[in-house]
Amino acid sequence: MSEELQTADVVIVGAGPTGLMLAIELCLGGVTPVVLERLPEISEIPKGNGIFGLVVPLLDYRGLLEPLRAEATYTGPVPSFFFGPLTLDFSRLAASPLHVLAAPQRTVERKLTERLTELGGTVRRRHELTSLSQQDDSVTVDVSGPGGDYRLRTRYLVGCDGAHSPVRKLAGIDFPGVTSGTVARIGRVRVPADLIVPGTGELDVPGAGRLRIMQPVRTAGGSYSIGPQASLDKAAPRDVYIVSTQEEQPNADLTAPMTLDELADSVRRVLGADLPMSDPIWLTRLGSNSRQADRYQEGRVLLAGDAAHVVGVGGSLNAGLLDAVNLGWKLAAQARGTAPDGLLGSYHAERHAAGQRALLQSRAQRAISADDEYARAARQLVGELLAYPDAVRHVGETIAGSDVRYDMTRPGQEASPGELHDLVGRVAPDLQLRTPGGRTKVAELMRAARPVLLDFTQDGSAAKAAADWRGPVTLLVVKPLTGTAPADGMLIRPDGYVAWATGPGAADPAAGLADALRAWCQAPTA
Ligand SMILES: Cc1cc2nc3c(=O)[nH]c(=O)nc-3n(C[C@H](O)[C@H](O)[C@H](O)COP(=O)(O)OP(=O)(O)OC[C@H]3O[C@@H](n4cnc5c(N)ncnc54)[C@H](O)[C@@H]3O)c2cc1C
Repeated sequence: MSEELQTADVVIVGAGPTGLMLAIELCLGGVTPVVLERLPEISEIPKGNGIFGLVVPLLDYRGLLEPLRAEATYTGPVPSFFFGPLTLDFSRLAASPLHVLAAPQRTVERKLTERLTELGGTVRRRHELTSLSQQDDSVTVDVSGPGGDYRLRTRYLVGCDGAHSPVRKLAGIDFPGVTSGTVARIGRVRVPADLIVPGTGELDVPGAGRLRIMQPVRTAGGSYSIGPQASLDKAAPRDVYIVSTQEEQPNADLTAPMTLDELADSVRRVLGADLPMSDPIWLTRLGSNSRQADRYQEGRVLLAGDAAHVVGVGGSLNAGLLDAVNLGWKLAAQARGTAPDGLLGSYHAERHAAGQRALLQSRAQRAISADDEYARAARQLVGELLAYPDAVRHVGETIAGSDVRYDMTRPGQEASPGELHDLVGRVAPDLQLRTPGGRTKVAELMRAARPVLLDFTQDGSAAKAAADWRGPVTLLVVKPLTGTAPADGMLIRPDGYVAWATGPGAADPAAGLADALRAWCQAPTA
């Protein structure tokens, strides 16, 4: 162990998507964290093939969507999506509630790393946290690095270290939930070229017929999904396919190394026929977990991403990246000593509740996917309900995470006068705006990750009421470039959520604004 004690304001353990995003948010907030990652480089093992949900437009609010769009096979709202075995048809709605960014997870991690580097941050690769202990004013962590073991003392530690989170375990945080007997096996393999249907990429398999691609298919033995790798990565050879199966196998050995034979056996059981496969590029086997940490903060240790929740089907990356965007500015303010009372505590309050909603939709998908009389009945009834536009929108919003409305009333703050404005607690819409200096839009204003007050009044009365806060808060008198203003004034937190709004046409356009500024923003210096 090195004798020299290193110090840091914030240490992040894990440079997966959540840890990288959190590091970016902290840098934007003026605090450069130490990021520890035990892997030597970004893992080539394919994990997520896409991000879907509210975080996709929020990536635009950080200027990250454009660089990712160039590498994605699809970016934007989708006309339909799956809900377990059912299809959500958004085409009858005025707007789809679900945005998708179809890019491999390692591409996302690469782009986030590039952005972190631009902001002056780095990842300490091959550095593994091995233990931690908390003191009143700090956390001490032991690290095993390529140059030997060393000790770090930090004011805050965030575990973004995945589902098996050593940080969560060492901090003594429980991870209740369910582990079911469902086993998923996934492989990236070659299939014989003469099975591939030209033009469609479907497969003609002797004994099974023509296999549909890119959608889960239920069978008596479980379910399977098959798709050409080229649909995700244009440069991939046309005979490379991602083949996955799901079976109920409560007693399966999840510890032995996964083999091509195991995948082939599983395909045979599920499909009822042999699918010839060779040259496995990557193989994995997953048990099925649905769990959530009982608290996201224990003293000076916090959790985010899979360390805090394993959502299973439907939106783990969305939930994890939204954690990072929620936590980053709060933790940066806390570390800088400029956070209003209770700001950091609002992370658990807001994101634990959001995690419960993510688990709700994921568990519901599983429940209606089962193969028994009760599940079939629930599936039929849910399917009938999804014919109603309000129902399909609601389910879509739940998958997106946009059904979650943060409670913006903080202890000591008066509840908003009158009826709560519909935008409060939700992500600010990306309005196109005219400013005294030209044109802008909300997404551009949020790139600096600072609070913004938009004043839509004729006389700028909301901005005048907040004049003392100029500096910590960007004050702008604006007009919408299209349509009418949704409010007289709108205070947007650094994470893009609306903390306060009035009107339009309020008797006092600044009513409640001072409370909201005190609750969420750095106090102005006298
Ligand atoms: C096959 C597969 C397909 C998936 N598909 C999707 C999908 O399509 N969409 C979706 O939203 N999600 C998907 N997921 C889930 C998604 O991959 C995870 O939700 C996501 O990786 C979680 O990100 P994270 O940063 O929280 O954790 P991770 O990505 O697990 O990163 C944690 C990091 O912490 C590091 N670490 C752990 N312990 C230590 C330590 N002691 N010291 C230092 N570093 C440590 C690890 O090496 C790792 O890099 C999929 C997962 C799998 C396995």
